[in-house]
Amino acid sequence: MRRSPCYPVVVLVLALAGLEAGADDNPVKTSAAPKDAMVLFDGKDLSAWSKRNGKPADWKVEDGYMEVMPRSGDIMTKEKFGPDFQLHVEFWLPLMADAKGQARANSGVYLQGRYEIQVLDSYGNKTYADGTSGALYQIIAPNWAAAQEKGLSEPKNPSKPPQEWQSYDITFHAPRVDGQGKITEKGHVTVVHNGVTVIDNGAFDKVTGGALDEKIGEPGPLRLQDHGAKVRYRNIWLKPLTTR
Ligand code: MG
Repeated sequence: MRRSPCYPVVVLVLALAGLEAGADDNPVKTSAAPKDAMVLFDGKDLSAWSKRNGKPADWKVEDGYMEVMPRSGDIMTKEKFGPDFQLHVEFWLPLMADAKGQARANSGVYLQGRYEIQVLDSYGNKTYADGTSGALYQIIAPNWAAAQEKGLSEPKNPSKPPQEWQSYDITFHAPRVDGQGKITEKGHVTVVHNGVTVIDNGAFDKVTGGALDEKIGEPGPLRLQDHGAKVRYRNIWLKPLTTR
């Protein structure tokens, strides 16, 4: 049988289609921000971000993501947010197979610069329950980690293996304070990790370790932690909320 002259092209197209099908194995797909959301990182540049000292953010940006430049320091948005918002963040953790616990791929998403939602490779990596992925660091453990600590096998840990994209969808309500800065109403946070609710309207009344400041009740930036690992972020958007 004579092959058509376009045979190599057909093979190439089929091969590319196969690669595309393979890429579909990861259910965390990036998606466009809702129309009423503020895009904080669109995959192109860090113009909306700075270092803690106000100098330009210098983490690497390529192929639609930013990557922590280890030991260069945290970065944060120039704009401040709060008291109430919804946040979407996608992250990718490098494989650090020789490291254990908190020394594995570690970063963090600090809401208002004060409240760290832990980012950690928690796939088969044990650590304290309120320090694992999705925790409000050392204040609220995700439900699956709290269950594991009690010897229960449900709910399951929704963490993906390293080198796969994961997502957080966070609903945040800052604590309310009076004129003297005293908390009159606790804050509340819901964390959805890879589509699974791991903290459901958890209450808190203090900042986490490493907070930018303790000005509870004031707006604050979104801050990403440099914990020495080459963690990547993409598709970050925030939607201010006006109702509780
Ligand atoms: Mg961290």
